Amino acid sequence: MHCPYCRHGDTKVLDSRVAEDGGSIRRRRQCQGCEKRFSTVELMQLTVLKRSGATEPFTRDKAVAGVRKACKGRPVTEDQLACLGQEVEDALRTSGYAEVPAHEVGMAILAPLRQLDEVAYLRFASVYRQFESADDFEDEIAVLRTERRLRSTAEDMQPVSTG
Ligand SMILES: [Zn+2]
Repeated sequence: MHCPYCRHGDTKVLDSRVAEDGGSIRRRRQCQGCEKRFSTVELMQLTVLKRSGATEPFTRDKAVAGVRKACKGRPVTEDQLACLGQEVEDALRTSGYAEVPAHEVGMAILAPLRQLDEVAYLRFASVYRQFESADDFEDEIAVLRTERRLRSTAEDMQPVSTG
Protein backbone atom coordinates (compact mmCIF):
# COMPACT_ATOMS: atom_id res chain seq x y z
CA MET A 1 0.00 0.00 0.00
CA HIS A 2 1.55 3.30 -1.17
CA CYS A 3 1.26 6.48 0.85
CA PRO A 4 -1.52 8.57 -0.81
CA TYR A 5 0.53 11.75 -0.23
CA CYS A 6 4.06 10.87 -1.34
CA ARG A 7 3.72 7.35 -2.85
CA HIS A 8 6.24 5.98 -0.35
CA GLY A 9 5.98 2.21 -0.10
CA ASP A 10 6.38 1.70 3.66
CA THR A 11 3.62 2.42 6.13
CA LYS A 12 3.30 1.59 9.79
CA VAL A 13 -0.02 0.43 11.31
CA LEU A 14 -0.83 2.60 14.35
CA ASP A 15 -4.20 1.15 15.23
CA SER A 16 -6.63 -1.57 14.02
CA ARG A 17 -10.32 -1.63 14.78
CA VAL A 18 -13.02 -4.14 13.83
CA ALA A 19 -16.17 -2.41 12.55
CA GLU A 20 -19.35 -2.72 14.62
CA ASP A 21 -20.93 -5.23 12.24
CA GLY A 22 -17.76 -7.34 12.28
CA GLY A 23 -17.52 -7.19 8.48
CA SER A 24 -14.45 -5.00 8.12
CA ILE A 25 -11.30 -3.77 9.83
CA ARG A 26 -10.18 -0.16 9.81
CA ARG A 27 -6.46 0.52 10.17
CA ARG A 28 -4.85 3.85 11.00
CA ARG A 29 -1.49 4.05 9.21
CA GLN A 30 1.46 6.38 9.16
CA CYS A 31 3.77 6.86 6.19
CA GLN A 32 7.41 6.06 6.99
CA GLY A 33 8.49 8.66 4.41
CA CYS A 34 6.46 11.84 5.00
CA GLU A 35 4.91 10.73 8.33
CA LYS A 36 1.39 11.74 7.26
CA ARG A 37 -1.46 9.57 8.53
CA PHE A 38 -4.27 7.90 6.63
CA SER A 39 -6.80 5.08 7.11
CA THR A 40 -7.41 1.88 5.22
CA VAL A 41 -10.39 -0.46 5.41
CA GLU A 42 -9.99 -4.18 5.01
CA LEU A 43 -13.05 -6.04 3.69
CA MET A 44 -13.69 -9.73 3.19
CA GLN A 45 -13.29 -10.56 -0.51
CA LEU A 46 -16.74 -11.51 -1.81
CA THR A 47 -16.33 -14.43 -4.19
CA VAL A 48 -18.85 -15.59 -6.77
CA LEU A 49 -19.09 -19.30 -7.52
CA LYS A 50 -20.01 -19.73 -11.16
CA ARG A 51 -22.04 -22.61 -12.53
CA SER A 52 -18.88 -24.02 -14.14
CA GLY A 53 -17.35 -24.38 -10.67
CA ALA A 54 -14.89 -21.53 -11.28
CA THR A 55 -14.79 -18.62 -8.86
CA GLU A 56 -14.24 -14.92 -9.44
CA PRO A 57 -14.23 -11.82 -7.24
CA PHE A 58 -17.63 -10.12 -6.92
CA THR A 59 -17.69 -6.71 -8.57
CA ARG A 60 -20.59 -4.27 -8.45
CA ASP A 61 -19.87 -3.31 -12.06
CA LYS A 62 -20.45 -6.82 -13.23
CA ALA A 63 -23.61 -7.25 -11.15
CA VAL A 64 -24.99 -3.97 -12.49
CA ALA A 65 -24.07 -4.77 -16.12
CA GLY A 66 -26.84 -7.36 -16.43
CA VAL A 67 -29.33 -5.00 -14.80
CA ARG A 68 -28.33 -2.17 -17.14
CA LYS A 69 -29.30 -4.37 -20.12
CA ALA A 70 -32.70 -5.08 -18.56
CA CYS A 71 -33.17 -1.33 -17.98
CA LYS A 72 -32.56 -0.41 -21.61
CA GLY A 73 -35.09 2.24 -22.68
CA ARG A 74 -36.41 2.56 -19.12
CA PRO A 75 -36.23 5.73 -17.00
CA VAL A 76 -33.47 4.37 -14.76
CA THR A 77 -30.38 6.49 -14.10
CA GLU A 78 -26.75 5.44 -13.60
CA ASP A 79 -27.02 6.73 -10.02
CA GLN A 80 -29.95 4.42 -9.37
CA LEU A 81 -27.99 1.51 -10.85
CA ALA A 82 -25.02 2.36 -8.62
CA CYS A 83 -27.31 2.37 -5.55
CA LEU A 84 -28.73 -0.97 -6.61
CA GLY A 85 -25.20 -2.37 -6.93
CA GLN A 86 -24.45 -1.19 -3.41
CA GLU A 87 -27.67 -2.74 -2.06
CA VAL A 88 -26.87 -6.06 -3.74
CA GLU A 89 -23.34 -6.09 -2.35
CA ASP A 90 -24.61 -5.28 1.16
CA ALA A 91 -27.22 -8.04 0.93
CA LEU A 92 -24.64 -10.58 -0.21
CA ARG A 93 -22.16 -9.54 2.48
CA THR A 94 -24.73 -10.05 5.21
CA SER A 95 -25.92 -13.35 3.72
CA GLY A 96 -22.85 -15.03 5.20
CA TYR A 97 -21.73 -16.97 2.14
CA ALA A 98 -17.99 -17.62 1.80
CA GLU A 99 -18.61 -18.13 -1.90
CA VAL A 100 -21.85 -16.73 -3.31
CA PRO A 101 -23.44 -18.95 -5.97
CA ALA A 102 -23.87 -16.87 -9.18
CA HIS A 103 -27.59 -17.65 -9.05
CA GLU A 104 -27.85 -15.94 -5.64
CA VAL A 105 -26.34 -12.76 -7.07
CA GLY A 106 -29.21 -12.67 -9.59
CA MET A 107 -31.73 -13.37 -6.84
CA ALA A 108 -30.31 -10.55 -4.67
CA ILE A 109 -30.87 -8.17 -7.59
CA LEU A 110 -34.57 -9.01 -7.99
CA ALA A 111 -36.00 -7.27 -4.89
CA PRO A 112 -34.30 -3.87 -5.30
CA LEU A 113 -34.90 -3.96 -9.07
CA ARG A 114 -38.62 -4.53 -8.50
CA GLN A 115 -38.70 -1.32 -6.43
CA LEU A 116 -36.82 0.51 -9.17
CA ASP A 117 -38.69 -0.45 -12.34
CA GLU A 118 -41.31 -3.15 -12.85
CA VAL A 119 -40.67 -3.61 -16.57
CA ALA A 120 -36.91 -4.01 -16.09
CA TYR A 121 -37.68 -6.36 -13.21
CA LEU A 122 -39.85 -8.58 -15.43
CA ARG A 123 -37.15 -8.67 -18.12
CA PHE A 124 -34.48 -9.58 -15.59
CA ALA A 125 -36.67 -12.10 -13.74
CA SER A 126 -37.55 -13.83 -17.01
CA VAL A 127 -33.87 -14.69 -17.45
CA TYR A 128 -32.89 -15.43 -13.85
CA ARG A 129 -35.97 -17.39 -12.94
CA GLN A 130 -36.06 -19.03 -16.34
CA PHE A 131 -39.56 -18.09 -17.44
CA GLU A 132 -40.62 -20.61 -20.04
CA SER A 133 -43.86 -19.20 -21.36
CA ALA A 134 -46.17 -16.19 -21.36
CA ASP A 135 -47.94 -17.86 -18.41
CA ASP A 136 -44.88 -17.28 -16.25
CA PHE A 137 -45.01 -13.57 -17.11
CA GLU A 138 -48.73 -13.50 -16.35
CA ASP A 139 -48.20 -15.12 -12.96
CA GLU A 140 -45.46 -12.66 -12.07
CA ILE A 141 -47.54 -9.69 -13.23
CA ALA A 142 -50.46 -10.97 -11.13
CA VAL A 143 -48.17 -10.95 -8.09
CA LEU A 144 -47.00 -7.40 -8.88
CA ARG A 145 -50.65 -6.26 -9.29
CA THR A 146 -51.73 -7.86 -6.03
CA GLU A 147 -48.87 -6.21 -4.17
CA ARG A 148 -49.64 -2.85 -5.70
CA ARG A 149 -53.32 -3.21 -4.73
CA LEU A 150 -52.38 -4.14 -1.15
CA ARG A 151 -50.09 -1.13 -0.97
CA SER A 152 -52.72 1.32 -2.21
CA THR A 153 -55.38 -0.22 0.04
CA ALA A 154 -53.11 0.30 3.02
CA GLU A 155 -52.54 3.92 1.96
CA ASP A 156 -56.28 4.56 1.48
CA MET A 157 -57.23 3.15 4.84
CA GLN A 158 -58.88 5.69 7.07
CA PRO A 159 -59.01 5.51 10.84
CA VAL A 160 -62.39 4.10 11.83
CA SER A 161 -64.43 6.16 14.21
CA THR A 162 -65.69 4.20 17.17
CA GLY A 163 -68.08 6.94 18.31
ZN1 LIG B 1 4.11 9.67 2.59
